[in-house]
Amino acid sequence: MQPFRYIRAQNAEHAATLLQQQNGRARILAGGTDLIVALREHRIEADLVIDIKGIPEVDELTFDAHDGLRLGAAVPCHRIYNHAEIARCFAGLIDAAQLIGGVQVQGRASLGGNLCNASPAADSIPALIVHSAICDIAGPQGRRHVAVEDFCSAPGRTILQAGDLLVALRIPAPQPGFGAAYLRFIPRNEMDIAVVGVGASVQLDESRTMITSARIALGAVAPTPLYVPEAGAALIGQAPSAEAIAHAADIARAAARPISDMRGTAEYRRHLVAVLTRRALTKAIERAQA
Ligand SMILES: Cc1cc2nc3c(=O)[nH]c(=O)nc-3n(C[C@H](O)[C@H](O)[C@H](O)COP(=O)(O)OP(=O)(O)OC[C@H]3O[C@@H](n4cnc5c(N)ncnc54)[C@H](O)[C@@H]3O)c2cc1C
Repeated sequence: MQPFRYIRAQNAEHAATLLQQQNGRARILAGGTDLIVALREHRIEADLVIDIKGIPEVDELTFDAHDGLRLGAAVPCHRIYNHAEIARCFAGLIDAAQLIGGVQVQGRASLGGNLCNASPAADSIPALIVHSAICDIAGPQGRRHVAVEDFCSAPGRTILQAGDLLVALRIPAPQPGFGAAYLRFIPRNEMDIAVVGVGASVQLDESRTMITSARIALGAVAPTPLYVPEAGAALIGQAPSAEAIAHAADIARAAARPISDMRGTAEYRRHLVAVLTRRALTKAIERAQA
């Protein structure tokens, strides 16, 4: 591994200043489960590694029914799914957090790192999108907010500019009648990259018999995780029936732009999108009705 300097940032502004000063030669360290591997394999190079885990707001995990979830960018997966109230309210997110790597990886890996790494197959990104997560970003011009569906710009690339740090993710508190789920297909039972991943969420009305809003997001079928608003829109005003679910799944299938690679052909992936969208929607509706 190429030698680099290591600094523990004191606060978000300190990290942002260091990033800007290094002019692209500094990297943020959260859990390090992507970064250290990439440095070791010389896929990326850095003169400076900035550890953000000691920044209180980056390590913060809070939830209340008014302000919703505030998930610091470096909070590791295990803290999220071991928080009983968060696990109950954000089931789609928990599906993803429990899939990333194995227990050892989940002890370090953060959803902020998963998002900033910007893999098209990243498991947490479709789940964050269907939970309507917003990125809280600190940069040279101050703070700004960006929806997760607008964060990734290409494989491995994001909208973060020089000097930008992802500080936290904010997710609104779910209302009664909300349910979400994330599913992925992998050829093995664990420790593999998604061939396709699908997140789905629904909001049901008070009687739990009509869908008032829905969100569907796909992983591993486009250069970036793909939000498919038209699939969610097709469910609005519908009863949560098999026909409505199948129609939304067909729309999601048509929106996918997969490639063929060693994990599967484009046609296979399109087929999986329809199957997993049906299953994820069904699970989200079951959770919303529970
Ligand atoms: C064995 C193994 C299995 C894995 N399995 C899966 C899997 O099943 N599903 C999956 O999706 N991923 C998987 N991964 C990839 C990885 O674990 C995840 O992407 C993880 O969530 C990354 O989080 P991290 O905190 O370790 O990020 P880091 O490695 O610390 O950072 C990742 C990248 O994001 C940048 N970064 C991190 N935080 C910020 C920030 N706050 N602001 C700006 N930039 C930032 C870093 O500089 C780096 O480029 C696996 C990795 C390993 C080693």
